[in-house]
Amino acid sequence: MTSTDSTDSTGSTGSTGSTGSTGSSAGSLAITRIGTLVTNDPSLGAGPLGVLTDAALVIDGGRVAWAGTTSKAPATDSHLDAAGRAVIPGFVDSHTHLLFDGDRAGEFAARMAGRPYTAGGIYATVAATRQASDARLAGRLTALLREALAQGTTTVETKSGYGLTVADEARALRVARQHTEETTFLGAHVPAPGTTPEEYVETVTGPMLDACAPHARWIDAFCERGAFGPGQARAVLAAGAARGLVPRLHASQLGPGPGVRLAVELGAASVDHCTYLTDEDVDALAQARGRTVATLLPGCEFSTRSPYADARRLLDAGATVALATDCNPGSSFTSSMPFCLALAVREMGMTPDEALWAATAGGAAALRRRDVGRLAPGCRADLVLLDAPSHVHLAYRPGVPLVRQVFRGGLPVVSGA
Ligand SMILES: [Zn+2]
Repeated sequence: MTSTDSTDSTGSTGSTGSTGSTGSSAGSLAITRIGTLVTNDPSLGAGPLGVLTDAALVIDGGRVAWAGTTSKAPATDSHLDAAGRAVIPGFVDSHTHLLFDGDRAGEFAARMAGRPYTAGGIYATVAATRQASDARLAGRLTALLREALAQGTTTVETKSGYGLTVADEARALRVARQHTEETTFLGAHVPAPGTTPEEYVETVTGPMLDACAPHARWIDAFCERGAFGPGQARAVLAAGAARGLVPRLHASQLGPGPGVRLAVELGAASVDHCTYLTDEDVDALAQARGRTVATLLPGCEFSTRSPYADARRLLDAGATVALATDCNPGSSFTSSMPFCLALAVREMGMTPDEALWAATAGGAAALRRRDVGRLAPGCRADLVLLDAPSHVHLAYRPGVPLVRQVFRGGLPVVSGA
């Protein structure tokens, strides 16, 4: 592997952010001599990942225009020599909680010293988040988004849920909407301090939903002991759906429960955690394939020293699986999709191919997106150039910063050494 920088005639300075360009001004670009190109389109290459070797990818107008072997690549305005490196779709992190302030490193350290995880720590973040100015919240959000982008994440979903008042939930989503279209109203994270779950659900499905719906695409609830029961989760998701928000659900993180089957019944795009599943849950997810995705969050199990979800069981049953970071200050403070992918391979029974698919196309499926998570013609040109000959190195070389360059919408937004 050469350490010489490949020519990047798009003139990137390696800074983050696109400064409003559409990408079309750069003209067409061919990335050539790609050692392993993962397209996630089986019609373009081998296997479910649609893998091409000695490949080229042409980008034009911010979109993928062509993918094939280097020798057949059409003429373009400029080209970038990948020198045998791998190119994969940008990661799609379909589950994060990035609107918060405060630090819970002490809680993590205590937990690692033997104290069990409980959902109560959320209230420490709620108190700190309510104190933070809008600018402070936005600053922390953008810092985490930059951190994720540097690790290859080009699409991020994020949630409210640390405000728990009408005003605080609405402003979290208003801030988030300025940075991602994938915003989720999670007023039903835990009951607000001083309220019963019953009282609080009245607020969530009433004035809070009114204030939050204009800034959100998704509605979510934490269906778990210590948070909300299935009847309350159903009421929240139904109220959101009536306002045009699409359901997704946190369920079966701390123990088995009715949440997974509820999510499937309500046609949720995703049910997230899925750590403790009954045979009926697995059957329901298998039958819901393509409609309700099982999103696994290994960073959470790592950070709470909990048993990992059994991805193998879900995959063998035929369920669609996504991987996400669950980045949040309490139970999974990582923005690293490569880290989660490596954990999924080591601890959840996934192959490197399955984990890469789940972290890209799987995340896109969990967000009901077809334009990201794949590198087929017409898709958004969101991609990662790895300092490795194949995507397998993401799990084979865990913890190593392999992301060399990131393109989003056809523009270089991160440039490696
Ligand atoms: Zn979560």
